[in-house]
Amino acid sequence: MFVDSHCHLSFPELAERVDAIRAEMVAARVDRALCICTTLEEFDTVHGLATRYDNFWCSAGVHPDSEGVREPTLDDLLGLAARARVVAIGETGLDYYRLNGRSVAEMEWQRQRFRVHIRAARAARLPLVIHTRSASDDTLGILQEEGAGAAGGVFHCFTETMEVARAALDLGFYVSFSGILTFRNAVELQQVARFVPLDRCLIETDSPYLAPVPFRGKTNTPALVPHVAAKLAELKGMSLEKVAAATSANFETLFRSSSKT
Ligand SMILES: [Zn+2]
Ligand SMILES: [Zn+2]
Repeated sequence: MFVDSHCHLSFPELAERVDAIRAEMVAARVDRALCICTTLEEFDTVHGLATRYDNFWCSAGVHPDSEGVREPTLDDLLGLAARARVVAIGETGLDYYRLNGRSVAEMEWQRQRFRVHIRAARAARLPLVIHTRSASDDTLGILQEEGAGAAGGVFHCFTETMEVARAALDLGFYVSFSGILTFRNAVELQQVARFVPLDRCLIETDSPYLAPVPFRGKTNTPALVPHVAAKLAELKGMSLEKVAAATSANFETLFRSSSKT
């Protein structure tokens, strides 16, 4: 059985088809998924999935790319963290990829938002789901300054260097691989996947985006996560069953989902 540790089933491409997606998941032996929140406005929809279906859980947080939305306070996040089926804080982090003409200095609001999430995760004793793009130095620096190791978490959809992977592992974090791992040009990332110990690896789809080969460019769903597992197994020279079992066990260790009703 496989677990998708990061998907966006509330996004319009998927929200209409949840029943069909769930049937595809059964056929593909994907038995659990973590539905990720990206705005406070979206929380009720994401949370609804996690309360309606006993093999879905959810996070609470505001994505660094979410602009023009309600800014979360520590109390907002703690209130959501206490709700049933909420097993993580995020996705949160830093994204300097789309600066839209701004300087990194002007992105202080993102760094402040990120700090609020880390403080919430520590106070609520929930792990963090970290999104970082073109911002790894600041991401790691803030995680260290805020003592994020006490909360733990995962660097989701990992696309950073070996050095960043090492730093994430040193902080006690997990590293999650997406369909990008299956892309032909992802040579450096494939090296990282060989390096990260199996007991710190997670797999995800980040659906509806980043469908793995041979579905690249199509709409992604949690049912495609076994293709990520297969690539990870190939890179590590292990059986698919071993990778499936380990990444599923890691999901449970990190999110303790079975105990969060
Ligand atoms: Zn992300
Ligand atoms: Zn995401």
